[in-house]
Amino acid sequence: MIKNIIFLAPPASGKGTQAKLLKDKYNMCHISTGDLLREACSRDDEFGENLKRIMQSGNLVDDSIVLELLKKKVMENLDSGFILDGFPRNVNQALALDELLKEINKKIDYVLYLNVPKNVLQKRITGRRLCKICGKIYNIYQDNISLCTCGGELYQRSDDNLESFENRYQEYIEKTQPLIDYYNKNGNLISIDGDNEVEQIFDQITSILNN
Ligand code: AMP
Repeated sequence: MIKNIIFLAPPASGKGTQAKLLKDKYNMCHISTGDLLREACSRDDEFGENLKRIMQSGNLVDDSIVLELLKKKVMENLDSGFILDGFPRNVNQALALDELLKEINKKIDYVLYLNVPKNVLQKRITGRRLCKICGKIYNIYQDNISLCTCGGELYQRSDDNLESFENRYQEYIEKTQPLIDYYNKNGNLISIDGDNEVEQIFDQITSILNN
């Protein structure tokens, strides 16, 4: 099954968790622009420092930087279906993605919109922990665990605090939410209740993809 999907969702909605599950089940290519940018941040120069500052504040990074990283990753994985996690984040990025898809003769099969209320997101963001080795995502309010199942240590993302969250959420409302309209008109947008158990949401997504 080669399908290409976009996760359209607010910060801490669970899109990363669902994307990882899909990647493992269907052997798809998981493209998280947040992960690509965090990798780029580790550069020990002015570029890396600037990027770190922007991400820490919760603002969106320049389209041109994100697009370059995204294109590279897509071109390296042309043979598999992809899951876009955190991209596009605004209408300009959606237009650039349309152009890229035309160039490589691909299309988006589903845009999955995970709907989660703000108060739930706030709680999730402060409890979120990630594995240093495999990147698996946990939540201290749900998972009674101090190490990952792979043995890796858990850490908290530096932008997973309430101050950054508020900014990330505002960016989402102003710039990303208009994409719901965009994909309602131009794509196959499916709304999913993201305020549910991980397994329940995953079942819903797999039944959509298997259709
Ligand atoms: P995420 O891992 O998706 O929560 O993204 C973390 C941060 O990376 C965001 O708050 C932005 O600063 C930046 N970022 C990720 N994806 C994008 C994107 N498509 N456009 C602009 N900035 C992005």
